[in-house]
Parts: sequence; C-alpha cells; structure tokens
Amino acid sequence: MTREELEKKLSEREIPVTEGMLDQLEQYLSMIVSTNAVMNLTAITEEGAIREKHFYDSLLLYPYVKDAKTLIDVGTGAGFPGIPLQIVLPDCHVILMDATKKKCDFLRRVITELGCRNAEVLHGRAEELAHRGLRAEVVTARAVSELRILAELCVPLCKMKGRFIAMKGPMGHEELASAQKALQTVGARLKEETEEILPSGDTRVNLVFEKYKPTPKEYPRRYAEIKKKPL
Ligand code: SAH
Repeated sequence: MTREELEKKLSEREIPVTEGMLDQLEQYLSMIVSTNAVMNLTAITEEGAIREKHFYDSLLLYPYVKDAKTLIDVGTGAGFPGIPLQIVLPDCHVILMDATKKKCDFLRRVITELGCRNAEVLHGRAEELAHRGLRAEVVTARAVSELRILAELCVPLCKMKGRFIAMKGPMGHEELASAQKALQTVGARLKEETEEILPSGDTRVNLVFEKYKPTPKEYPRRYAEIKKKPL
C-alpha cells in the first residue's frame, strides 16, 4: 500500500486524516524501518506492508475511539494501535504501555520526533499498573494474548462505561466463546464484533466491549496465576 492508497482507503472508511497526519505516519514509518535494522521491533518490515498491516489496521478502530479523552494501549510494542490513533486523534491522551524497556525507549523517541504532546510512554505490566489505579476511557490491545487472559489484564484498566477493544485474528470468534466467564467476572460485555478483510487478505476481528460493572478488587491477579488458571 502506498501513501496515496492509504489516504484513499481511509477516506473511503470516513477516517479523517490531514496531509500533516500522513506526513507524521510516514516519519514514523521511516523510524520503524531504520530501527528494525538494529533491533527486533516488528516482523513486518516492508514499507507497503507497514502501511496496511500496521497503520490501516490500527486506524480501523477510529470509530470506537474518536470521542475518547483517554486511551491506554496495552502491550503496544512498536506502537500499535496506539501511535496511529494518537496521530489522527491528537487531543486524546494516549498512554502507550509495554513491558519491554527497549520498545518503550523507541516509542519515547517516536513521540518526541513526531511532536505528539498528548502521548505518554509507560514501561510496565498491565496487571501491576491496574492496581496502582491507572484507568482510561478506552483500552486497546493487539496481538498481546488470548482473550481470556487479555480480559483480565485490560478490563480493570477501563473506567466504568468505558471500552475494551481486542484486535484479534480469525480465531477471535472462538476466543470470544471461550472467554464468556472471564468477561463476566471482570465486568465486560460485548457491544460490537466486526470482521474485516485487509487488502492483503488477512482477517481482522475486532471485539468491542463495554465495562458495565466494576471489576472485583482481586483482579488482575499476578501474571503467573493468570496463565496457570485463566478465568
Ligand atoms: N500491539 C503490538 C505488539 C504486540 S507484541 C502489535 O500489535 O504490533 C506483544 C507486546 O505486549 C510485547 O511488546 C510485550 O512486551 C507486551 N506485553 C505482553 N504482556 C504484557 C503485559 N502484561 N503488560 C504490558 N505489556 C505486555
């Protein structure tokens, strides 16, 4: 996907981007490519694939995020979906969270060079930060873990009535079926389930949940326990 193709696809989806925002995405793209040469940032390294599988894919969340004032992207890695969303929603306070320090160092460079004044990089683990009172209106996660585990990591970080958005592959529907108990326990219910086929043919299942009741204080548990006995 070229810059022009990305622009066209976004306009077809009524996702508003200015030329300045596309410039920022291109600047981010060249930082990903040059940093990938010296550290393992993302498996997708080709420019066209980065625009489609990282930028366009991330921006498909726009309709669910556009009114939010705060967002936490759990396990953001090289910044997905958090950075593209921050670029198109500069007024939203985006917290880019990751457990890996070198990814956080890269993200700090990105937000400085792109001039993202509302972005914040948080090095840490979701299950620990949740107990320190960190909350946002929207919590996103792509390619972090299976939904049963992800719900316990992410829903506690949502404000009441807030949203948790899990970006899943084709197995998303099955994961949803086996996460019913976990979702109920942490207080989330499904609002929307969408399936997208990206131009390359990849399937993206986005699951949008609402937090309808407070998460009991004992959640999230420690990671070893979550993994050993998922809800
Ligand atoms: N969301 C990105 C990165 C996915 S890789 C993308 O889709 O491209 C998963 C990332 O989640 C890794 O960078 C890892 O460090 C981070 N991670 C895994 N478990 C985590 C946790 N409990 N809290 C915070 N980050 C976590």
